[in-house]
Amino acid sequence: MRKILVMTEAKEGNLRGVTLEMLSAAKRISEGGEIVAVTFGSNATNYNEILGQYGTDKIFAVTNKELDVYTTDAYSQALCKVIKEVQPEAILMPHTAIGRDLAPRIAARLGIGLISDVTDVHVESGDVLFTRPIYSGKAFEKKKMLSGIPFATVRQNNIPAVETEGIAEVIELTVDLKDLRTIVKEIVRKTTGGIDLSEAKIVISGGRGVKSADGFKPLQKLADVLGGAVGASRGACDAEYCDYSLQIGQTGKVVTPDLYIACGISGAIQHLAGMSNSKIVVAINKDPEAPIFQVADYGIIGDLFEVVPLLTEEFNKVLVNA
Ligand code: FAD
Repeated sequence: MRKILVMTEAKEGNLRGVTLEMLSAAKRISEGGEIVAVTFGSNATNYNEILGQYGTDKIFAVTNKELDVYTTDAYSQALCKVIKEVQPEAILMPHTAIGRDLAPRIAARLGIGLISDVTDVHVESGDVLFTRPIYSGKAFEKKKMLSGIPFATVRQNNIPAVETEGIAEVIELTVDLKDLRTIVKEIVRKTTGGIDLSEAKIVISGGRGVKSADGFKPLQKLADVLGGAVGASRGACDAEYCDYSLQIGQTGKVVTPDLYIACGISGAIQHLAGMSNSKIVVAINKDPEAPIFQVADYGIIGDLFEVVPLLTEEFNKVLVNA
């Protein structure tokens, strides 16, 4: 039995999906041990019910106002304080921008190792084993800690969240945050509204084949009908057809939706690194030799400006006008 600490992450008042997925991962490796979650900020106690429903036994709600917005300084102090109190036997954090920023600092402070970008976890012969992609997702390796407690960041959309029944015990606390060097005065968002690309279940992605910023319009229409988000290759971003916040790939976002539709994307290895774990990949490309077809479950050889509107029309009939 192991006591596992899970660092939760919320966005605009809602827990991110990866939090619930980490609780499932924690359940697997705890082998019946206690699962402790830590929440942050003035809304820290808002998530008690859902965390209990997904298997959390105890919640440490750190309610300092300074934690309403993420800063490395404040979160690392708060999290270290909770870790000291809980004395966990394994720690899981989300492999999000926040988790990736915070985890190495926590590892350094605790003097332990860190296994990042984990897509699966299980216990084998008493050891906690973490699976993670290597070589841009071409292969997977299994890793375990040889010393110190298991500590990992978990990639979202890989470990299914499993609902259980339960009510978590809540411990509210404030921590004495010292010498904070960063104050966030304002957050300016580049993109407004819409579905978060990294959490979307359906992604419609455009490459250099869309040919212009306007070329993304048919893709957005399809995304609207399917309730998905629009992404892009770096080729499309470099050509200034869209913002870099949409870039998927090795140097962009990693997405693992249920459905990924690649439109006018050749399928370079760096792009595949960000989407090849999608459950179903559909490729639309007019070049039958395009490498994207090698990873696609369904391929449509054709002009995206003809195919995408036809798909939108058909999905519209089935989903919207049914
Ligand atoms: P192209 O390779 O130019 O492909 C365009 C495709 O559109 C072609 O296959 C063509 O047949 C098709 N097409 C054209 N017109 C139509 C039409 N009307 N209908 C249908 N199909 C059409 N790339 C990423 O995407 N993400 C990354 O994170 C990333 N990181 C990188 C990091 C490094 C260090 C390096 C060196 C490169 C990286 N790249 C990345 C770039 C990558 O190597 C490719 O250059 C890029 O992915 C190509 O984008 P593309 O597929 O949109 O363009």
